[in-house]
Amino acid sequence: MTQSLLRLRVDEKRFQSRRVIDTLALDIHAGEAVSLVGPSGCGKSTLLRLVAGLDADYAGEVRVKGAAPQLHSPDVGFIFQEPRLLPWLSVADNVGFELGPGGGGHPRVRALLEEVGLADFADAWPKQLSGGMAQRAAIARGLFTQPALLLLDEPFSAVDAFTRMRLQDLLLSVAARHGTTLLLVTHDIDEAAYLSDRVVVMGSNPGRIVGEARVPLSRPRDRRDPALARVEAEVLGLLNGGLPDPLDLAPDLAAAPPPLKPIDWASLQFAL
Ligand code: ADP
Ligand code: MG
Repeated sequence: MTQSLLRLRVDEKRFQSRRVIDTLALDIHAGEAVSLVGPSGCGKSTLLRLVAGLDADYAGEVRVKGAAPQLHSPDVGFIFQEPRLLPWLSVADNVGFELGPGGGGHPRVRALLEEVGLADFADAWPKQLSGGMAQRAAIARGLFTQPALLLLDEPFSAVDAFTRMRLQDLLLSVAARHGTTLLLVTHDIDEAAYLSDRVVVMGSNPGRIVGEARVPLSRPRDRRDPALARVEAEVLGLLNGGLPDPLDLAPDLAAAPPPLKPIDWASLQFAL
C-alpha cells in the first residue's frame, strides 16, 4: 500500500470552549487534487492551518510525508484568497521570499515567473499588477520551495469569472508540471469539480466530513462535460444533507401554503 502524502486525523479542534471540528479523517496521495467544500464557518481554513503547521493546538495527528507539519516547511506551500505580496519587495523578490533579501535573483524565480506569464514583471512592484497578475505571482511564490503539497484557501474568489478560469487552468498546468499535490478550499462547486480528482464535502457545527464525490474524468477536461455537472449535483446533495433543513429553522414556512386565489381577470382589465 502506498503511503499517503497527507494523513489527517482530527479528533477534536476547539476555539476556547467551542468545538469547531469533530472526528475527521482525510488521506491524500501524491499527485492527487482534492477540494474541500462546505458551509462558511465549518472549519475549512482551520483544517488547512493545521496542515500548514500554523496551528498545533488540536487533538489528533497530521502527517505530511510521514512527519508532523512544521511552520515554513518547504514541503508545504500556501496560497490565500488575497495574493499577500509584500508591497516593498519587487515581484521577483516576493516569489523568492523564502531565501531572504535578494531571493528574487534565484534562477528558479525567473523560471516560475515565466511559467505564470510574468517574466516581464520581475522588477515591477506588486501595486503595478492587476488582481489576476498578483495572484499568478502568489502561485509562483507558493511553488518556489518546490512543495510536495500546495494548500489553497479560496484562491480565486476575489477575481472575475474569466480571470478565474485562466488561473484555474494555469494552476492545473503548473501543478502537473511540478508533480504538486493540491488541497484546495473553495466555495465554488464548479471550480471544485473542474480542478479535483475528489471533492470532499464538510458539514458544520461541529465541522466534519459528510461525504465525498469522485470526479471520474482525465485531464484536460472540458468545462461543459455533463459528467462535471453530475459531480456538482452529487456535491450539492451532500451539502444539503450536511446542513440543517431550512424548514427546521423556520417552522412557519413548513406549514401548508395558503390556497391561491383565482385571478379576477375583470379587475385587471384596465391595467392591461
Ligand atoms: P471556514 O474556513 O470553513 O469558513 P474557519 O475554519 O475559518 O471556517 O472557522 C471555523 C470556525 O472556527 C468558525 O466558527 C470560526 O468563527 C471559528 N474560528 C476560526 N478561527 C478562530 C479563532 N482564531 N478564534 C476563535 N474562533 C475561530
Ligand atoms: Mg475559510
